[in-house]
Amino acid sequence: MVAFEITILGANGGPSEYATQCFILKPARTEDSELIAVDGGGGMHQLRELLAQGQNDNEGYDELVLSFYEHDREPIEFFIDPRLTIQKGLSKSLLQSLKRHGAHFESANTTNKAFKLFQGITDYYITHPHFDHINGLVINSPSIYEQENTKKKTIWGLPHTIDALQKHVFNDLIWPDLTAERSEKLKLRSLNSKEIQKCTIFPWDVIPFKVHHGVGVKTGAPVYSTFYIFRDRKSKDCIIVCGDVEQDRGGCEENLLEEFWLYVAENIPLVHLKGILVECSCPLSSKPEQLYGHLSPIYLINELSNLNTLYNSSRGLSGLNVIVTHVKATAAKRDPRLTILEELRFLAQERNLGDLRISIALEGHTLFL
Ligand SMILES: [Zn+2]
Ligand SMILES: [Zn+2]
Repeated sequence: MVAFEITILGANGGPSEYATQCFILKPARTEDSELIAVDGGGGMHQLRELLAQGQNDNEGYDELVLSFYEHDREPIEFFIDPRLTIQKGLSKSLLQSLKRHGAHFESANTTNKAFKLFQGITDYYITHPHFDHINGLVINSPSIYEQENTKKKTIWGLPHTIDALQKHVFNDLIWPDLTAERSEKLKLRSLNSKEIQKCTIFPWDVIPFKVHHGVGVKTGAPVYSTFYIFRDRKSKDCIIVCGDVEQDRGGCEENLLEEFWLYVAENIPLVHLKGILVECSCPLSSKPEQLYGHLSPIYLINELSNLNTLYNSSRGLSGLNVIVTHVKATAAKRDPRLTILEELRFLAQERNLGDLRISIALEGHTLFL
């Protein structure tokens, strides 16, 4: 049974500034008037593009997707596992809910529709405060104060994210401190790592976990990011949505990923784990010193192997959807996403991880997991 719908507003890991990481999440097939997002790299522009496609163009996925390497467009089949359920644009139930909850929605122009859709994203779960995970949300934020908007927005994150957003972004220097408005339409709220929090709009639990993401260039101090587990309280189905991450470093006291996978294996039966959206920013040829707090295929496969060992199932991780995000669009002959996908599939087979379904997160598409 499909449990989650994930619309990819952005999955790019830079250095291109377009459509960096941002996912919209909702329960499958429901027509809720509100939505949540993980990260805010994409935003209003991507929403306008999705809405401009119209409902009838959203059927199926037999199409070409932007690549800009060997060819400017490549067949979508190159990027996804054939068993992944995916469609172009917004899901039917999301479009339906916009019509149902928005007066005159159908007759509105695309920009006004995008405003409505953006306003309906009431909760953002941010993985870490790097620009490529917040830029859309920050630049879009003044629209919360449009007169006809009655909705509020809460930005959630672990303290390392929320403190940095308050001190270094919404500080009246880098960006107006919209959180200080008396109307309280924009709020920043801290979560605690490993603590189960009830999602305010869906019957889901949200569980954040702190993970490592390299060290500061100047200070050498550890940089942190977040993995989120979203769990439907009724069906117990879960998805894991990850921010940027690096492997646990040897000699480091905090084995954050080790603890995370242990929690997953002990608390989520494999059949209820509907998918993992995880970064793999760099190809296999990258040297460790070129990763800058990210994963390459060998490290991602090491992490999946750890999970596989903990689950200890005779079928390995068969059937698990792994959706790869945040690939860096570096100068290369071949699309780095295709290189990384091929390397991951090869390594997964070599390490006997079972029949994993590995795909690339494609901007402008909705996944059903
Ligand atoms: Zn980052
Ligand atoms: Zn990033």
